[in-house]
Amino acid sequence: MITVLKAGTTEEQKRMLIKWFEDQGLRVTEYQDGDQTVLGLIGDISKIDVEMLELLDIVDHVALVSEPFRKSNRKFHPEDTIVDVNGVKIGGGNFAVIAGPCSVETEDQIIEVAEAVKKSGATLLRGGAFKPRTSPYDFQGLKAEGLRLLMEAKRVTGLPIVTEIMNQDHLELFEDVDVIQVGARNMQNFELLKELGKLKKPILLKRGLANTIKELLMSAEYIMSNGNENIILCERGIRTFETYTRNTLDLSVIPVLHKLTHLPVIVDPSHATGHSDLVEPMAMAATAGGADGLMIEVHNNPPMALCDGAQSLTPAEFDDTMQKVRRIREVVQ
Ligand code: PEP
Ligand code: MN
Repeated sequence: MITVLKAGTTEEQKRMLIKWFEDQGLRVTEYQDGDQTVLGLIGDISKIDVEMLELLDIVDHVALVSEPFRKSNRKFHPEDTIVDVNGVKIGGGNFAVIAGPCSVETEDQIIEVAEAVKKSGATLLRGGAFKPRTSPYDFQGLKAEGLRLLMEAKRVTGLPIVTEIMNQDHLELFEDVDVIQVGARNMQNFELLKELGKLKKPILLKRGLANTIKELLMSAEYIMSNGNENIILCERGIRTFETYTRNTLDLSVIPVLHKLTHLPVIVDPSHATGHSDLVEPMAMAATAGGADGLMIEVHNNPPMALCDGAQSLTPAEFDDTMQKVRRIREVVQ
């Protein structure tokens, strides 16, 4: 529920009303919409008499919010959230590109890719150290050693690091990671989400393989309701009957999410398509569709990659894609 106060309400009147809401066990968020103050009420509102509330001198109107997501809901927070990763901003007109290999393999590999993607304009470096693989016999990532190599690449290039966590027991290892990624397979690992809610670090939350937009927002809500509001949402394709592409990229999610939530929305055309030749056109489409950023897999030698080589761009292909993305940004900005 939101309560919109009349213009001219004094600080003292507002404070008393907030205190009264809090005494009813509600959490109150406050924002300014033009010259009106809007109070968002989170909690059990069944005890609130809406008609009585609307009779108060200072109340303009009360509106019920039917959606179950509150903290991520744009109705409670109309301005775009800008996530700040050590000075690299995402959202609210700030476009970020996260690039790097699917997995960290060797020191030479991650540093070579990091230097190349930085030169082409990437603003953050990705690389998996803990890999969620469909087969237990496939490469599972270098784990702690992979995180160490990512830190080395950060030291050399200055690019902040984005890497995936699979288990809250590993949190200690992620202390120096700049953005913690929750992969598609863990989007509804609620115990992990609650633990990430206790951090201040930005979280990149990827949409699950078979999850709805509302389920994605409810997962963001798990993190936000535990105290961490630094979330970047990521569309990475969903599973449909189509098998030609690895997943089906749901680009309509960009304007839908921008309508429903204030959180930044980025698109991963690599996992969405599974084919390197489809990455550039879909990166361009996502940019044209209003995405706040992209996540793109880049490998210095895709045929030899230990994971996702078929969808990985070479550094030269990435450079070409970045030039086209920049030109599209000029049009949509
Ligand atoms: C990844 O980004 O490395 C990854 C595993 O992606 P997803 O969780 O979207 O499959
Ligand atoms: Mn991958």
